[in-house]
Amino acid sequence: MISNSLKNKNKVIILGIDGMDPVITERLINAGKLPNLSALRNKGSYCRLATTIPAESVVAWASFATGLDASGHGVFDFIMRNPQDYSLFLGLNEMPVIKGKTEIKPRIKGESFWSILSQNKVPCFVYFCPNTFPSEKIYGRMLSGMGTPDILGNLGKFSFYTTKPLTKDDLESRGRIVSVKDESGVITTQLYGPKVLSAGLEAEARSGLKLILNPAEDKLLVNLEGRSFSLSKDTWSNWQPVSFKTGPFSSVSGIVKFYLKSIKPELELYVTPINFNPNKPPFPISNPRGFSRKISAKIGYYHTLGMPVETWSLSEGRVSEKVFLQEVDNVLDERRRILRQELKSYKSGLFFFYFDTLDVIQHMFWRYLDDRNQYMQSDLQYKDTVYKYYEQIDQVIGEVAKGLDDSTTMIVLSDHGFGPFRKSVHLNRWLLEQGYLFLKDKENPNQQFLEGIDWSKTKAYALGFGGIYLNKAGREYYGIVDAAQERQIKEELLNRLLAMTDPATGEKIVGNVYPAELIYKGPYVNAGPDFFVGFKPGYRASWQSALGGLANVLIEDNKKKWSGDHLFDPKEVPGVIFVSRKIKTDGFRITDIASVVLSLFGIQRTQE
Ligand SMILES: [Zn+2]
Repeated sequence: MISNSLKNKNKVIILGIDGMDPVITERLINAGKLPNLSALRNKGSYCRLATTIPAESVVAWASFATGLDASGHGVFDFIMRNPQDYSLFLGLNEMPVIKGKTEIKPRIKGESFWSILSQNKVPCFVYFCPNTFPSEKIYGRMLSGMGTPDILGNLGKFSFYTTKPLTKDDLESRGRIVSVKDESGVITTQLYGPKVLSAGLEAEARSGLKLILNPAEDKLLVNLEGRSFSLSKDTWSNWQPVSFKTGPFSSVSGIVKFYLKSIKPELELYVTPINFNPNKPPFPISNPRGFSRKISAKIGYYHTLGMPVETWSLSEGRVSEKVFLQEVDNVLDERRRILRQELKSYKSGLFFFYFDTLDVIQHMFWRYLDDRNQYMQSDLQYKDTVYKYYEQIDQVIGEVAKGLDDSTTMIVLSDHGFGPFRKSVHLNRWLLEQGYLFLKDKENPNQQFLEGIDWSKTKAYALGFGGIYLNKAGREYYGIVDAAQERQIKEELLNRLLAMTDPATGEKIVGNVYPAELIYKGPYVNAGPDFFVGFKPGYRASWQSALGGLANVLIEDNKKKWSGDHLFDPKEVPGVIFVSRKIKTDGFRITDIASVVLSLFGIQRTQE
């Protein structure tokens, strides 16, 4: 039984800071740059926090919520596979195909600590936690986080309108590059919405967009659904509502922002992914359902997209560093206003709020910290960008800490640290070279999505950020590795992976290899990889192998602006935890948090 006094009066505030790295944090604390975290450490406890295998946000936050490893909550990676047909899917949730009323389910299994608290009538307020789309019913309030799609059902697809002729890069863009024509100063085009069924055929919903050019004043008049607003060069628009007809009596409503990059000699207009309109989202992005609308009534429209800052636009040079940081600042500002707003009405129970700022900034700006990144930009003005955002997050922490009384426990934690991403390793290429993977057409190795693999000969394949799967008889549809061969192949693979070297330098590149049977204890073990490859920082599974693709070479330089990462050996990238009271911190892991929080409310977790 839980004592009523603990249940009703206790307050636990947790700030989840994605990607806050212990080495940087400790260095900045010692330099006096993070006074609020420093105060928290001095008053209570601080330690590095062991992360999950793999050290991925979706996996680690699922473990944070449930106290379970990946095989317990079933989220093994951003990218997972169905062994019955080798098709790929996202680990976050079953993405909606937004036409009519398609139901969506989160993939996460197991019970979160806020669900247990809710059953015990402890109020819970959970904001933007990964893996919370669609929003669950809790005793309190919830706003969905990472996993919430844009209106197209993607994790965030931008658009870019240009009068320039399209290039090869445009055709390979991760966004939608729309070629438009200037007709005497007027461009008539459209925003593209979700797929809909029209007369039995799949079609794209559209919303009319008219652009009236005023190059003399470096301005654009944007006309969207009959409303007009003016946009100057180098500026962002406010949020604009937009709706798409999805059927004779139905429509779906979104919000979008525009950035005018150039108007002469050519037009270049960046358009953010179309976020669900928080006033009428087509799927539950909050609990209660109307809560997302109540927030916008107080602070205005805000990003509802689960990964609100879209990074490919910077990677592809569609927007500059400066413009990208403006968007980071916008998101951070919105989140801070929501945090302030919600803390006003918080009286007791659990309060969790998540920030992805440091994760995004470190992914995109690590190149300015890394002297060994040969593609580092010498632009000195961004040299301290990462540190500046640590200081900003410290200010957020200070603001929350300022209002605390003694009955409140404050926890600040991260899911993993960070490191340099200098080289990509094509794991499927390696498996091919080592004789574990075979192609149907040897001449054509540039396949993706596990296509083109000859399953009748293939013993192992790579997928996700470091996962290696055996093509197991009885599990995979065309599986050939039987129980008798399994042990020998595993041993062979383990030894060869550990011996993998960089042909350019001769350096060993794998720190640890984690076989599933040694690290996973839960019921969903067959949904995940048989090995997780823990690369030494600097090396990471390539984007292609994450998607089940191949390449012509084993290792490639990472020339992308996405230059920091955490998908290395999890031992190398622990997170951090600060607690405002003294606790035992030896060997603390992210899977320990759920029981710690429950115990702060006097609840002993019963093991199933
Ligand atoms: Zn993360």
